[in-house]
Amino acid sequence: MPNQAYDVIIIGAGVVGSLIARALSRYRLRILLLDKASDVGEGTTKANTAIVHAGYDAKPGTLKARLNVAGNAMYDQVCAELDVDFDRCGTYVVAVRPEDWDTLDALRQRGAQNGVPGLSLIDADEMRRREPSITDSAVGALFAETGGIVDPFGLCFGAAESAVLNGVELALETVVTGLMREGRRVTGVRTNRGDFAARWVVIAAGLWADDLMQQAGLDGFTITPRKGEYFVLDRVAAETVRGVLFPCPTPVSKGILVTRTIHGNVMLGPNANDVASKDDVSVTADGLNEVLTGALALVPTLNTRQIIRTFAGLRAAGSTGDFVIECPRDVDGLCVLAGIESPGLTASPAIAAYVVELLREAGLALVERPDYQPMRRAIPRFSTLSRQEQAELIARDARYGNVVCRCETVTEGEIVAACHAPIPARTYDAVKRRTRCGTGRCQGAFDLPLVVQIMARELGVSPLEITKKGGESRFLLRETKQVAE
Ligand SMILES: Cc1cc2nc3c(=O)[nH]c(=O)nc-3n(C[C@H](O)[C@H](O)[C@H](O)COP(=O)(O)OP(=O)(O)OC[C@H]3O[C@@H](n4cnc5c(N)ncnc54)[C@H](O)[C@@H]3O)c2cc1C
Repeated sequence: MPNQAYDVIIIGAGVVGSLIARALSRYRLRILLLDKASDVGEGTTKANTAIVHAGYDAKPGTLKARLNVAGNAMYDQVCAELDVDFDRCGTYVVAVRPEDWDTLDALRQRGAQNGVPGLSLIDADEMRRREPSITDSAVGALFAETGGIVDPFGLCFGAAESAVLNGVELALETVVTGLMREGRRVTGVRTNRGDFAARWVVIAAGLWADDLMQQAGLDGFTITPRKGEYFVLDRVAAETVRGVLFPCPTPVSKGILVTRTIHGNVMLGPNANDVASKDDVSVTADGLNEVLTGALALVPTLNTRQIIRTFAGLRAAGSTGDFVIECPRDVDGLCVLAGIESPGLTASPAIAAYVVELLREAGLALVERPDYQPMRRAIPRFSTLSRQEQAELIARDARYGNVVCRCETVTEGEIVAACHAPIPARTYDAVKRRTRCGTGRCQGAFDLPLVVQIMARELGVSPLEITKKGGESRFLLRETKQVAE
C-alpha cells in the first residue's frame, strides 16, 4: 500500500522540476519533489553553457520559442527573489564570412517574429571595439541585448530551497522505478523507498522522461542523448574574453561558443554528438579537439595553458524537435515534460508557470497560501564582500576568517553554512556548487581534505562516509591507522 498521499509528486529536481515545485508551493498543496541523485541539479542542469538566451534561435510558433522569450523576461525577478547570480550582459552571434550576414539577418527576423526586443546588427569595427580579441575574420555580429549569463546550479538549488522553505518535501536518492495506475489514471509512483500516492504526477525527468512516459502508456516519443563537451579556463582568461560569443549556428546546435561565465571564468564549447547512453558524460580527445578548433576560430589568442577543467553534458534531444509539455488526453493525473533541451534553462521559469496553468485547467484546485514567502537568501559569499562586510562576518563567526579554498577564497564559515542550509549539502560536489570551493586553478587539490573533515564534523558522520557525489564515490577507503597495520 502507498505510504503517503500527495496532491502533486514531481519526478526530477533539475532546474525545471525545482522551479515547478517552487511555483506550486505558493498554493495549499502537499507536494513531493523526488530525485534519484544525491543532490538537486545533478542532471543536465549542472552541465550546460549557462546562457540565458534572447530567443531568436527557436522556430517561430513553437513552444520553445514562446517559453524562451517568456522565460528570459522572468530572469531579473526570479534571480532577485532567489539570490542567484545573473548578468544580462548581452550576447553576440559573430559573422566571419560575408555570406554569414544572411544568417544574421535571418536570425534577426526570426527574433522579431518571436517577439525578442533589443536585437541589432553591428559592424566589424564595433565588434572589435567591444571584444578586442575577436578573430580578424569577423565581419560583424548580431547583438542581443536581452541575452545573459547565469549560475544554473544556483538557480536550481535556490528554487528547490525556496520550495522546501514553503513546505515542499524533498526526497533525494529516490529512484522512480514505475508509475502506479488505476485504469487510465496515474495514482502515484513506485520507488526504491516505497510507493507514494498522488493525485497528480509531474514527469520532469530530463533525459529519462521518455522511459517514464512509456510506463504511462505514452509511446512514440523518444529522447536521444546529445553530448556537448567543454573546456573551462582559469579566471585570468577573462582578460581575453569579455562577453558571450556565438558563431553562426548549424542545423543541430548553436555552435561552439567562447563565453565568460557568471563567476568570471571562460568556457569553450559545446560540440554536439549523439551518444548511445544517457549516462555517458565522458569527454573524448576528438570531441575536445573539435571544441578547441571551434573556439580558436572565434578567439585565436586563447591560451590553452589556462585550461583548468573539461566536462560534458547531455542534451535531452526529443523526437519532435519541440518541448513537449502537456497533460495527455488519454491519461488522467499526469503532466509530462519531455525534450527540454536548450533553451530549457532559459525557459525554465516560464515552463514552471505554464505547468501551473496546465494543472489548473486540468482541475487542480489552486488556493493561495497567505504565508508563501518568495524570497530566499543564499549563504554568504565571502570573496564578493567588501572589506568591512568581511570583517563584520568574521566578528560574528570566526570561521569566516579561516580560508579553506585559496583559489576562490572560500571560508570554513561558508562550508559550514552549506552543510546546514535548508537543503543540506551532503556531498563534496554539493558543497562545491554552493560555495565554489574546488572550482579554481588547483581544482580542489588543496581544499579537498579540509572540506571532507569539516563536512564530517558538521554532518556528524565519519570522513569515510563523505562522497564526491553519493553512491560509492567515496574519497577515503579506510582509516589511516588500519593502513599502517
Ligand atoms: C551541452 C548543453 C548546453 C546547454 N546550454 C544551455 C544554455 O546555454 N541555455 C539554456 O537555456 N539551456 C541550455 N541547455 C539546456 C538546459 O541545460 C536543459 O534544458 C535543462 O537543464 C533541463 O533541466 P531539467 O530539469 O529538465 O533536466 P535535468 O537537469 O536533467 O533534471 C532531470 C532530473 O530528473 C532526475 N531523474 C530522472 N529519472 C529519474 C527517476 N526515474 N527517478 C528519480 N529522478 C529521476 C535526474 O536525476 C535529474 O536530476 C544546455 C544543455 C546541454 C546538454
